[in-house]
Amino acid sequence: MDHFTITNGVMHAEDVPLPRIADEVGTPVYVYSRATLERHARVFREALDDVPEKLIAFAVKANPNLAVLKVLQRQGYGADVVSVGEMRRALAAGIAPENVVFSGVGKTRTELAAGLEAGIGQFNIESEEEGLELAEVAREMGMEARCTLRINPDVDAGTHDKISTGKADNKFGVPITEAGQIFGKLANEKGVKLRGVAVHIGSQLADLAPLENAFAKIDELIRSLRGAGHTITHVDLGGGLGVPYKQGEELPSPAEYGAMVARMTKDWSVKLIFEPGRVIAGNAGVLLTRVVRVKRGIKDPFVIVDAAMNDLARPALYGAYHDFTAVQPKGTDMTANIVGPICETGDTFAMGRLCDKLETGDLAVFRTAGAYGATMASSYNSRGFVAEVLVDGDKFAVVADRIDASAIMDAERVPEWLD
Ligand SMILES: *Cc1c(COP(=O)(O)O)cnc(C)c1O
Repeated sequence: MDHFTITNGVMHAEDVPLPRIADEVGTPVYVYSRATLERHARVFREALDDVPEKLIAFAVKANPNLAVLKVLQRQGYGADVVSVGEMRRALAAGIAPENVVFSGVGKTRTELAAGLEAGIGQFNIESEEEGLELAEVAREMGMEARCTLRINPDVDAGTHDKISTGKADNKFGVPITEAGQIFGKLANEKGVKLRGVAVHIGSQLADLAPLENAFAKIDELIRSLRGAGHTITHVDLGGGLGVPYKQGEELPSPAEYGAMVARMTKDWSVKLIFEPGRVIAGNAGVLLTRVVRVKRGIKDPFVIVDAAMNDLARPALYGAYHDFTAVQPKGTDMTANIVGPICETGDTFAMGRLCDKLETGDLAVFRTAGAYGATMASSYNSRGFVAEVLVDGDKFAVVADRIDASAIMDAERVPEWLD
């Protein structure tokens, strides 16, 4: 459910016609809907009504835009961050430090210290080595770091390999087979307060079974840790719920997820932490683009749009599918190859796609681009960074300026000795 709909033949974001945004801000541009973000935040929270004690920490990496974070902060969301940059954004959006969770396999010593300095609520430690280093940093600062130990439960999330994180050979967490021993070692370390465990098995999960399987393993682990005398008060269940990218695609709903979580965790007596990203932001954004020209092909024509793989990397990176529709559909179809202007064949959004008939100058959108969209942008081909807009009812604001290629060039210089 989102607020991007065709009214009087023109696609609107809430009450704003997309051509208005294209005229005023230019293309390509990401357009987010506040009502959609709020709806998803509410639906996810309500799905967890049966979980007595919880923190929902939005996975900032899905969409780190400050205005987006502000919308979620106002919904009572915390933040799951994976770098100091993301931590600063979460704090700048007004998210309380105690509601910030710091994940990630390669937090540097500087980042660990910055997290402690800011007083964040929880570090998810991803290795024994990191735990020992965090303890040392915390002792030097005369502080104690609140932590969970991230467990690699060795389950196949059944999603794309590049976004699977819970298989034994993935880089994340400690092997569940060694969890008891590592937990025991870190629990005795001065400087860290190890309160529980964390798990996150992957993203865009199309099935609840792998999650349920992982939670069952965590259930067993909690019993065994408690049996060994450890106090477990916090369990972080990560994110991963998928969103429909194709019309009619069936995925587990937040309600089904919530019911499964409530059932699996009913005896745990802990505070649960959730880290949803995609399910909150995915369908709350589109990438608005203009057709540069339509080029004859051997078989299907190439619809060349002004957005490219540097603006929306998912198709090039994961072979991901994004719905592609005209902003002002003419009521006829075409089969086309949808491509960007970048000089590599990877800059292809879709081949042989049945889509609305489009001509030079027409506007179109890639849907479900609110998560892992703008945040993955690069300046490849010296294209600059795309602007972002947030719509709220009948008004909109530019929430990230377009960064021109010239501004990026301004940060470069030719050394004197070369001139
Ligand atoms: C990416 C990530 C998430 C969010 O995943 P989604 O699939 O967007 O919900 C949550 N937790 C961690 C540790 C992550 O790396």
